[in-house]
Amino acid sequence: MERIVHVPLEGREYDVVIGPGLLQEVGARIAPFLNRPRVAVLTDENVAALHLESLRSGLAKAGIEMVSLALPAGESTKAWPQFSRAVEWLLEQKVERNDVVVAFGGGVIGDLAGFAASVLRRGVRFIQIPTSLLAQVDSSVGGKTGINAPQGKNLIGAFHQPTLVLADSEILGTLTARDFLAGYGEVVKYGLLGDAAFFAWLEEMGPKLAEGDMAARVEAVAHSVQMKADIVERDETEQGDRALLNLGHTFCHALEAATGYSDRLLHGEGVAIGCALAFELSSRLGLCSQEDPSRVRAHLKEMGMKTDLCDIEGALPNADALLGLMGQDKKVVDGQLKFILARGIGEAFVTADVPKEVVLSVLKDALKDCAQA
Ligand code: NAD
Repeated sequence: MERIVHVPLEGREYDVVIGPGLLQEVGARIAPFLNRPRVAVLTDENVAALHLESLRSGLAKAGIEMVSLALPAGESTKAWPQFSRAVEWLLEQKVERNDVVVAFGGGVIGDLAGFAASVLRRGVRFIQIPTSLLAQVDSSVGGKTGINAPQGKNLIGAFHQPTLVLADSEILGTLTARDFLAGYGEVVKYGLLGDAAFFAWLEEMGPKLAEGDMAARVEAVAHSVQMKADIVERDETEQGDRALLNLGHTFCHALEAATGYSDRLLHGEGVAIGCALAFELSSRLGLCSQEDPSRVRAHLKEMGMKTDLCDIEGALPNADALLGLMGQDKKVVDGQLKFILARGIGEAFVTADVPKEVVLSVLKDALKDCAQA
């Protein structure tokens, strides 16, 4: 059942291995990359409580010793205080230039550990063992690392590609249903942005995948990672095509800011709602058929995901304020808001040419629907 996706960046190429049971054999998988049989692991407290002992025994089978630091779980960890704690801990553990840091957790740990590895002794290698669906299909691949600033999300960071990614499909079994579905929002995004056949496959297989069908999980993760790898290969540092991966994100970032980056809205939930809004916007601009946004929403709803603005608990700011928050997105260039729109399912493109009034009307109508709900 195992799949390997190769990320062919010249001089920084690596494999993403996807399949069940990887944690048990992690030592053998990692050993070829080590200069000495010792790794420093950064993780979070949730993942540590559930899986750190399995990681330790998987490494021990190959005679690899491990030291670990478990940071508090949650987005607020991705900031200077826990970052400097992690970097200083790695130095205390005497991690040397040729050693390897292991990121064992969701996107928060992957982003923080990757950034720590990028600056430690001017750069050490790191291995990603992503444990959330979101991290397996998105954040562990592609080399974007970083932390949040008080001024905004992901504003401090570096491009630093991992040396290896090990995505154990079984480890997803302990995610809460909410975290699993938030990650699934990113899976759907890949179908919507560039692969109509994959979206159709998800319409059929999504419910089974959520119920735990392992083969379907492996296939969905491998397909998503392959799509990301292809895009990253074309445009590693986001000069063009990589922006397609931000489908739904301009709306999502405004909604995350409006909800204070809190538990009211997880990132992947915002992406799903954002994708539905991006298709609505595309349809209003006459770019895609009216059926496309309905089809997107129907699938999200069938999966039991947050789909509309009204699915976000509590009050939201009005449409003008949301548009203002969109203007603060870091993808704004020369004051121009970039949008990822679509000519149909699987046919996304990047544009800055979107009349503000149409965006405003989409937001107003979405908020009006909530008032009526
Ligand atoms: P997360 O790391 O906070 O994980 C979500 C929750 O799931 C946490 O409570 C975590 O402890 C828990 N968890 C993780 N694995 C588990 C498991 N196997 N069993 C039980 N619980 C588990 O968040 P996330 O959704 O994984 O990632 C979101 C972050 O990723 C954001 O900070 C976002 O900015 C970042 N991100 C980065 C990129 C990139 O390219 N670098 C891309 C997308 C998102």
